[in-house]
Amino acid sequence: MLTLPDDFQPGLLPADDSDTPIQWFVFAGGNLLVRPTSDGVALPVAAVWPFAKLVTVRRLYLGSWRGQPCHAAEVETATPPPPGMNFESLRALWSRLDEGLLGVAGHAEQLIEWDRSHQFCGCCGAQTQRRADERARHCVACGSMAYPRLSPVIMVRVVRDGHILLARPPRFAPGFYSVLAGFVEAGETLEQAIHREVAEEVNIRVCDLRYFASQSWPFPHSLMIAFTAEYAEGELRAGGREIVAARLFGTDAVSYNHLTLPTSDLV
Ligand SMILES: [Zn+2]
Repeated sequence: MLTLPDDFQPGLLPADDSDTPIQWFVFAGGNLLVRPTSDGVALPVAAVWPFAKLVTVRRLYLGSWRGQPCHAAEVETATPPPPGMNFESLRALWSRLDEGLLGVAGHAEQLIEWDRSHQFCGCCGAQTQRRADERARHCVACGSMAYPRLSPVIMVRVVRDGHILLARPPRFAPGFYSVLAGFVEAGETLEQAIHREVAEEVNIRVCDLRYFASQSWPFPHSLMIAFTAEYAEGELRAGGREIVAARLFGTDAVSYNHLTLPTSDLV
């Protein structure tokens, strides 16, 4: 999962310990610098910035994981990777990069994106400054503060008679279906967002909502909150622009990836 490890210690300022090797999370255009290994990929580790030919446009201390400082850095989008290394998207690194490192990388990418996109104040247009006492950017001109963004998204596994409802947005590859998901609108509760999304996308009503789990989703700054629900009423019908197909599936027809929802009550 793309979620921070429980034992990750977030921080704003690194300890004064220059000899401790640093875990570097280096991004270019949203892609992470990795080195292929015999059984996956590895990240650069070095006590100081290890790439003399790569010019960083921003650096952020993230915190520490298992005693190792973690730093994020961004280089220009068109920067070629060092010999023997590649820039790859986090999605492509699923199951190839250590799960804990992948979680920290998701955290790093969100902070890099936030820092890049909040260089100027959204209220008055003046340049902002990074705060030293909290994860925020501050406008000296008008006092406005900008914190890392999180956009909540609900996802819901709807079940009817032991079958799971899956749907396909037009951007999905043929044959690939997902549980329903959508952004929470301003002013909504999570439950209201589920009822609205399900009605909009597949024209049915659901009941018995139950919280299941949550997961970070750094594409670019979402928090996925997953529920389960039962079909209540309505005729299943794909909602057009957002959903082009929706069907009930038995578990034998489904292979799962990413966040796995419970299937013990399915047939
Ligand atoms: Zn301002």
